[in-house]
Amino acid sequence: MKRFNLVRGDSPLLLSIPHMGTFLPPDLKHRMTPEALRLSDTDWHVDKLYWFAQGMGASMLMATHSRYVIDLNRPQDDQHLYPGQVKTGLCPLETFDGEKLYREGEEPDDIEKLNRIVAYWQPYHETIEAELKRIKERHGYAILYDAHSIRTEVPRLFDGKLWDLNLGTAHNKTCGAGMGEAALAAAASGSYSSILNGRFVGGHITRNYGQPEKNIHAIQMELTWGNYMDETSPYLYRPDKAEKLQPVLRNVLQALLDWGRQAYA
Ligand SMILES: [Zn+2]
Repeated sequence: MKRFNLVRGDSPLLLSIPHMGTFLPPDLKHRMTPEALRLSDTDWHVDKLYWFAQGMGASMLMATHSRYVIDLNRPQDDQHLYPGQVKTGLCPLETFDGEKLYREGEEPDDIEKLNRIVAYWQPYHETIEAELKRIKERHGYAILYDAHSIRTEVPRLFDGKLWDLNLGTAHNKTCGAGMGEAALAAAASGSYSSILNGRFVGGHITRNYGQPEKNIHAIQMELTWGNYMDETSPYLYRPDKAEKLQPVLRNVLQALLDWGRQAYA
């Protein structure tokens, strides 16, 4: 099983979709609980939602394995991303709702975690790095868009309902001046609620690769399921809703490309 799929485009934009994977290796699967096998915390269908981006010249990096195997948007050393809040770790042991992922005594030990880092985490990150390098060589700069989606309400992780479109730039540390605001203005072009650097300021991928001084600009988009899919199992894609959301997402990606063109003109 491949660890990810990569589609290359010729624009400065790279989309990373680290949590869309639904594959669990068979030897892992039989150690996991029925709750785990529902894969409830997957960023469902995000590749399908953004498929149009290829027509804009975007490259797309798409994970194949479930975040329950390893969370690609956490640092390798598993440092806490949101101090003071409930943590979902590098090799999580619980679902977002706090249900156990492993049967009694089947949790991964440190050696297994290390093996997963080498087998799954490193190849994905090496590919992000290589693609950003390739894009920069061609365009002089690169824009990384880390694409996510989540249930509208996850009481254990945040209070109340999320905004529809949650952009994060680690309080503008991960991109050049004005890029976050340009994306936010585009996110507000439809009828969806949107926010920049609210509950989600960007995870490891955004924070690690966003280095404006090195001409790499990163932004995370966390959007809520209800605007393009069913929020309950079996988590079906809803084309009617998605087709309404996609023009707004297109505006966001276009705003990033326009920002880059102006910033580097
Ligand atoms: Zn995600």
